Amino acid sequence: MRSLYWFRSDLRLIDNIALAEAMHAAHFLIAVFILTPVTWKAHSEAPCKIRFLLDNLKLLSEALWKKGIPLLIRQGPSFSDCPKVLNKLCREYDIDAIYFNKEYLLDEENRDNSVTRLLASHTLVNSYNEKLVLSPGTVLNKSHTLFQVFTPFKKTWLAKAHEQQAWRTWRKSIKTFKSDITPDPIPDFLKGFTHQKVVLHWQAGEEAAQKKLKDFCQNKMQDYHNNRDYPNLDGTSSLSPYLAQGVISPRQCITAVLEACRLSDIDCIKSNEGAATFISELIWREFYYHIIYANPNICRHKPFRLKTEHIPWGNDPNLLEAWKNGMTGFPIVDAGMRQLLKTGWMHNRLRMIVAMFLSKILLLDWRLGEKHFMAHLIDGDFSANNGGWQWCASTGTDSVPYFRIFNPLTQSQRFDPKGEFIRKFCPELAHLDSKTIHDPFAFGIKPEALNYPQPIVDYKSMRIKTLNLFKSI
Ligand SMILES: Cc1cc2nc3c(=O)[nH]c(=O)nc-3n(C[C@H](O)[C@H](O)[C@H](O)COP(=O)(O)OP(=O)(O)OC[C@H]3O[C@@H](n4cnc5c(N)ncnc54)[C@H](O)[C@@H]3O)c2cc1C
Repeated sequence: MRSLYWFRSDLRLIDNIALAEAMHAAHFLIAVFILTPVTWKAHSEAPCKIRFLLDNLKLLSEALWKKGIPLLIRQGPSFSDCPKVLNKLCREYDIDAIYFNKEYLLDEENRDNSVTRLLASHTLVNSYNEKLVLSPGTVLNKSHTLFQVFTPFKKTWLAKAHEQQAWRTWRKSIKTFKSDITPDPIPDFLKGFTHQKVVLHWQAGEEAAQKKLKDFCQNKMQDYHNNRDYPNLDGTSSLSPYLAQGVISPRQCITAVLEACRLSDIDCIKSNEGAATFISELIWREFYYHIIYANPNICRHKPFRLKTEHIPWGNDPNLLEAWKNGMTGFPIVDAGMRQLLKTGWMHNRLRMIVAMFLSKILLLDWRLGEKHFMAHLIDGDFSANNGGWQWCASTGTDSVPYFRIFNPLTQSQRFDPKGEFIRKFCPELAHLDSKTIHDPFAFGIKPEALNYPQPIVDYKSMRIKTLNLFKSI
């Protein structure tokens, strides 16, 4: 069989089902990655994420070439160009079969359906579920409909993953090919994605991802459930950029975690709280994909709960700019927003605080915040990002109830008690003591004495306004 492997967000050799199948069946194998900058721009992909993608592609290409598989690079530039690009490759190299792993968002699905329609008459199209442990649409309740609430979804998900042993990594051997086609060079940058100010804290490649996973299992997992909410502690896995581009699989994460705590199967997970909490977060990732797959309107920027469309969300550019730049006068919010601008990543607790602040205290349209996150996050993932935003704005399924509004002051005192995180990202407040730093002007500090803005809104009155708006719909 002469085969073509199409990489998208599955940039790894190990534990990659479609690639293993392609290698198994082929005597001739080439791989391709299609650059689609026009669509990536339309999807607001962050320059740091594209930088990370190119770095991952370089290492992937080297690793593939060691196996005799050349990675070819083609320009879309849009998703809509993919069918003709692939069709041309199939004809050029006399390809019998194409392999790829499925993607579950609306544009990605439409792209893949167009590819299948064009190629199916002359090429075998083989696609696999790889992105998730369990495919969307396969975790159903007793009446065979989709879960809309996380806890019962998780219970069924765990039972199914155990029953099918779906959490285990694939162990198919990787064979070596002979090829006289040379791999294409990977571009150093892409036009439109070059404005790069952030410091990249993530090394590219499968090896680096595995190293991070090992470090998590050895040094962080036991206390993950205690430490994961404190932004100043390095208490989480930092695997999200790798998971978003498929440099590591969720199966690899689960398998490593279970091995590290010497558990033979996923159904024993309750006995280790750190591991159980971590796996639960991976199941949230699956949950949001399942929800989006069943509700494609979410990809058209509709809220899950349609009646929340009636909330008159604002778009005041001054408030939005202050939020984006970390200049709201609420130190914990500003520290989080500046972490995003500086590093391309933000701690989960802060993502919740700043998202709730934008939607429920500034009363700005949550989609403005969602877009800003995508445009800056190295781990930008439409599904997790949208799920997180709709959870915070109380527009999603199984969201936080509308009346639970995080108070930035108490969140700050609780999750950054000594103000260490704030000091790191708001140096103008670094000299303040642990009590004052959370709300400097409340302690009598004169505005002219600090090079820092006063709060841009009054928290208490905005909170009441939000509650009344939600009650009225
Ligand atoms: C408003 C908002 C926006 C978000 N945007 C994104 C995004 O674009 N991309 C993204 O990967 N995550 C997003 N998250 C989820 C979460 O904040 C990040 O996954 C996490 O902070 C990444 O750090 P980590 O890898 O150290 O996570 P860990 O705590 O180590 O978790 C392990 C993995 O589980 C998954 N995960 C963890 N929490 C969640 C969650 N709440 N929802 C879905 N998956 C989760 C991620 O893949 C993560 O890498 C968002 C959350 C909120 C509240």
